Amino acid sequence: MDHEAMTTDLRPDGAGAAVPLLDLKAQFASLRAEILAAIEGVCDRQQFILGPEVRALEDALSRYSQCAHGIGVSSGTDALLLALMALGIGPGDAVITTPYSFFATAGTIARVGARPVFCDIDPASYNLSPAALESWFRTACDRDGDALIERRSGARVRAILPVHLFGQCADMKPIEALAARHSLPIIEDAAQAIGAEADDGRRAGSIGAIGCLSFFPSKNLGAFGDAGMCVTQDPELAERMRVLRVHGGKPKYHHGVIGANFRLDELQAAVLRVKFPHLDDWTAARQRNAACYRDAFARSGVAQQVGMPDEPVAGRHIYNQFVVRVPRRDELRRFLAERAIGTEVYYPVPLHRQPCFAYLGHADGDCPEAEAAARESLALPIYPELRADQLEQVVAAIAHFYG
Ligand SMILES: *Cc1c(COP(=O)(O)O)cnc(C)c1O
Repeated sequence: MDHEAMTTDLRPDGAGAAVPLLDLKAQFASLRAEILAAIEGVCDRQQFILGPEVRALEDALSRYSQCAHGIGVSSGTDALLLALMALGIGPGDAVITTPYSFFATAGTIARVGARPVFCDIDPASYNLSPAALESWFRTACDRDGDALIERRSGARVRAILPVHLFGQCADMKPIEALAARHSLPIIEDAAQAIGAEADDGRRAGSIGAIGCLSFFPSKNLGAFGDAGMCVTQDPELAERMRVLRVHGGKPKYHHGVIGANFRLDELQAAVLRVKFPHLDDWTAARQRNAACYRDAFARSGVAQQVGMPDEPVAGRHIYNQFVVRVPRRDELRRFLAERAIGTEVYYPVPLHRQPCFAYLGHADGDCPEAEAAARESLALPIYPELRADQLEQVVAAIAHFYG
């Protein structure tokens, strides 16, 4: 998700055209006139903050995510922060999450003063493992009246924060059952999963108390900068988030609670509203590319070496990323870079091993599946405009490396 990963001007290569990890220029070219007109409309109105574009986007995307309410915010990170604040999570609290995600998932938990608790992932889906979660509840906490206390820290467990990584929903039914048994709300990090569906057809963001979306440019629905949204079914949580979004002022300049500036710009909302009607087509193109990769790798002769991503039998995977598992990953990545093929490692350091979380006292081996994924995973180009010949070029280069 970083900017390096989005670089589109790769060197030309003698063996063929470059294959960037992501190329946003093609998408912009197809919508250029419409997007510029939408931006011009905002300029003409000179209403830049929480205006009609933001409201219309909140309507459209909350409905798309099967939710009653949408609260447009300044980024996916701020969506997570706002969700945690709306649930009153802070110092002395703990939130259970996955160690294998973008930093914001755990960073925001720590940022509100709470303690991130990491349960390992399922190696097939890279998502929070219900078995690891169940085992944690059985062995690592104690009940004290109504409160559930993490034994190691004494912190009060307040929420579960699963991530729908790479565009595939976490295994939500058992996670919901555990959350219900322990009376904990679920916050969904759906930053990579807009429109993804669980096996029963429920959409990412609609399953927990609050869902958090990101419109970072490399997400399936990307803004021209930072933007995000919280979605929820709960009118009270929605109202609390709307107030916290504007420094807790209600009415204006009267502050019953302390919020922050989490607002979404009209300009970003206008761009997103032009792009949104194309989202399902783009997702379908990503799904086609994923199917083509599976075919091409099956024919490549290196199917043994290259582990394909989980393919959900039910549900809807939106393939924000197509992540394979490979031996000699870093060597392969350099080999592909020399051939002007862009890849990225999501993520090289699991969250429980990040230096800033050393105070949590984790060691290697605490989340072995996340650690293995961090050593072996490699994201390949999957963006909608990727051509069949480019995809074949990626697979041929990988086959060459192992062949
Ligand atoms: C992108 C992302 C975020 C943060 O979103 P921003 O809009 O970049 O702040 C949070 N969690 C996950 C899993 C993400 O991929």
